[in-house]
Amino acid sequence: MKSSPKYDFLIVGAGLYGAVFAHEATKHGKNCLVIDKRNHLGGNTYCEDIEGINVHKYGAHIFHTNDKTIWDYVNSFVPFNRYTNSPLANFEGKLYNLPFNMNTFYQLWGTKTPDEAMAVLDEQTSKYRNITPTNLEEQALSLVGDDIYKKLIKGYTEKQWGRKATELPAFIIKRLPLRFTYDNNYFNDTYQGIPIGGYNKLTEGLLKGIECRTNIDFFKEKAALTGLAKQIVFTGKIDEYFDYCHGKLEYRSLDFKHEILAQSNYQGNAVVNYTEAKIPFTRIIEHKHFEFGRQKSTVITKEYPLEASPEKEPYYPINDTKNNEIFKAYQEMAKNEPTIFGGRLAEYKYYDMHQVIGAALSDTRKLFNEKS
Ligand code: FAD
Ligand code: UDP
Repeated sequence: MKSSPKYDFLIVGAGLYGAVFAHEATKHGKNCLVIDKRNHLGGNTYCEDIEGINVHKYGAHIFHTNDKTIWDYVNSFVPFNRYTNSPLANFEGKLYNLPFNMNTFYQLWGTKTPDEAMAVLDEQTSKYRNITPTNLEEQALSLVGDDIYKKLIKGYTEKQWGRKATELPAFIIKRLPLRFTYDNNYFNDTYQGIPIGGYNKLTEGLLKGIECRTNIDFFKEKAALTGLAKQIVFTGKIDEYFDYCHGKLEYRSLDFKHEILAQSNYQGNAVVNYTEAKIPFTRIIEHKHFEFGRQKSTVITKEYPLEASPEKEPYYPINDTKNNEIFKAYQEMAKNEPTIFGGRLAEYKYYDMHQVIGAALSDTRKLFNEKS
C-alpha cells in the first residue's frame, strides 16, 4: 500500500509569500516543508550582516502599509522602527527631494506657496490635458509636466526598465505621490518602518519551528519533491513552472555592487536616486541609515538595471500588454493545476511586501475557511 505523503504542503520559495503561507498553514495544524534554491531564507527581503550593518542584499526594502491588520501582523514577529523613506534625486549634480512635493517645486522653480507651484504645474501640463494617457510618458507629462519629467523621471525610468517610457504601462508612475505640502515622505501610507534588527527577524519569526531546506531548486528535483507533499505552493516563475510553453515572460533584473567604505557617513541618506540617463546605476543605497546605525564604517550599494536572463535574477515583472497576454495564458493553465500559485513571480505582479503578505493571508484564510 502506498503511504500518504509526509507533508501537507511543499512550499517552493522562502520569500514573504511562502513564509506567511507556511506560518498560517502550520497554525492550522498542517505539516509544511519550505524549500528555496538560494542559500538563505527570506527571498528578496534577505539581509546580510556586513560590518554590523544589515545590508539589503536584493535592494532597499522599506515596509509601508495602510492596513492596520498587516502592520500588527508583521509587528507581532518583530517590532518595526520609525524609519520614513525620503529619497533624494541627483540630476546633473543637483539634489531634489522626492516624491514630488513643495520642496521639489522650490528646488526646480523657486515657488514658495502651493498656489505658485500649482500655477507652474498647470502651465506645464496644460498641453497634455486633453490626452488620455496610454503609456508612462503620457501619464507623467499629464501629471507633472515637462520639467519634472525630463529631470526626474525619463532618464531614471528608461534605464530602470530598459525600454522607452512610451512603451511602458502608465500605472508604474502612479506609484509616486504628488503633493503640495513640504512633506518628503515617499509613501502616503499610515504605517512605515524597518524591522528592528533587520528583515531576517521577520523571516525567522514566520518560519520558526517549520522545516526549511535551502539550496534546493524545485525543477532539478521535481519528481522526488512532488511525492513528499499533498499539495504544492509555488512562488517561483509561473512561466518556468509550465516549461515556457507559451513563451518567456520578461523581467527586469539588477546587479548590486556592494562597497564597504572606511567612513561613517557617505551620503547622509538611505536612498539617493540618479535620474540622468548617462549614469548607469539608478540609485545608491546606504544601508545603515535604515536603522539609524552608528557603526564606524558604512556599506553602500549601487543598483545597475539590466534584463533578466538565466544567470540574472528576475526582480521586476514587465507588465506591458505583450507580457500580460502571455501571463494570462499561464494563468488559464494554473486554474487546472492542484498547485497554489502565489507571490511576485507566480502572479507576475509588481507587488510590494504588504501586498504579498495580504495576498498570502487572504489565500490561507480562504483555504482554511476562516472569517477575516
Ligand atoms: P521573493 O521574495 O522573490 O521570493 C521567492 C523565492 O522563491 C525566492 O527566494 C527564490 O529563490 C525562490 N524560488 C524561485 N524559484 C524557485 C525554485 N525553482 N526552487 C526553489 N526556490 C525557488 N517591497 C516593498 O514593500 N518595499 C520596498 O521598498 C521594496 N523594494 C524592493 C526593491 C527591489 C529591488 C525589489 C526586487 C523588490 C522590492 N520590493 C519592495 C518588493 C518585495 O521584494 C516583494 O513584494 C516581496 O519580497 C515578494 O515576496 P515573494 O515571496 O513573492 O517573492
Ligand atoms: N521613478 C522615477 N524617478 C525616480 C524614482 C522613481 O522616474 O527618481 C519612476 C520609475 O519609473 C520607477 C517608478 O517611478 O520604476 C516606481 O518607483 P519606485 O521607487 O516605487 O520603484 P521601486 O522601489 O519598485 O524600484
